[in-house]
Amino acid sequence: MSAGDVAANLAAVRARVDEACRRAGRDPAEVTLLAVSKVHGPEAIRAAYEAGQRVFGENYVQELVEKAEALADLPDLRFRFIGHLQRNKAKYLTRLGARLAAIDTVDSARLAKELAKRAAGEGLVLPVLLQVNVGREAQKSGVLPEAVEELVEAVRAHESLALRGLMTVPPADEDPRPHFRRLRELAEAHALPELSMGMSGDLEVAVEEGATMVRVGTAIFGPRPSPA
Ligand SMILES: *Cc1c(COP(=O)(O)O)cnc(C)c1O
Repeated sequence: MSAGDVAANLAAVRARVDEACRRAGRDPAEVTLLAVSKVHGPEAIRAAYEAGQRVFGENYVQELVEKAEALADLPDLRFRFIGHLQRNKAKYLTRLGARLAAIDTVDSARLAKELAKRAAGEGLVLPVLLQVNVGREAQKSGVLPEAVEELVEAVRAHESLALRGLMTVPPADEDPRPHFRRLRELAEAHALPELSMGMSGDLEVAVEEGATMVRVGTAIFGPRPSPA
């Protein structure tokens, strides 16, 4: 995909978000577009950056670290981690310092504790979201809805973590709306302002249900090569 294609796709996605906001009576400035660049190379990120995009979502620790190095000349480029994070890899993310905008997939008190220790060691207050498994899928990571309260309290106890909100990926084969609504209710119950939900195929529904961040990969960068 050419840099021009990425720029055009980015504009089209931003227009979809803005239109969904308009229909829902929301201010488009309330909804951040996270460009999900996993599997695509640094040149794809560079093309989106040149088109004005600043924050990118990555799912794999080593891939994120390599891209951050390859793109070190872009001073205000930021990454959010949206994949499953193993505790023993937390340090590679906190070492990125200010280039790491947030970790959106905290789903256990043990992971929070490790992240808090590593963030404190880097002198950071690290913004985090909790990933919630609203669809209760056995194969999916994320905290179950009934365990959110306990995890909220555990994360809030760490001074080097700043709990901002909740994130979810609803079941692929179901209507996402009730899942997005459930996430918003959980966030409201805990006075959490940020809601990361909605992807290429369902971002309009997510905006209608209150998303403050949509995570879009395919509609910006094209289809991902399937893993070998
Ligand atoms: C890959 C991914 C996305 C982007 O999905 P698209 O359908 O390509 O827009 C969003 N969120 C998470 C957690 C992902 O892993």
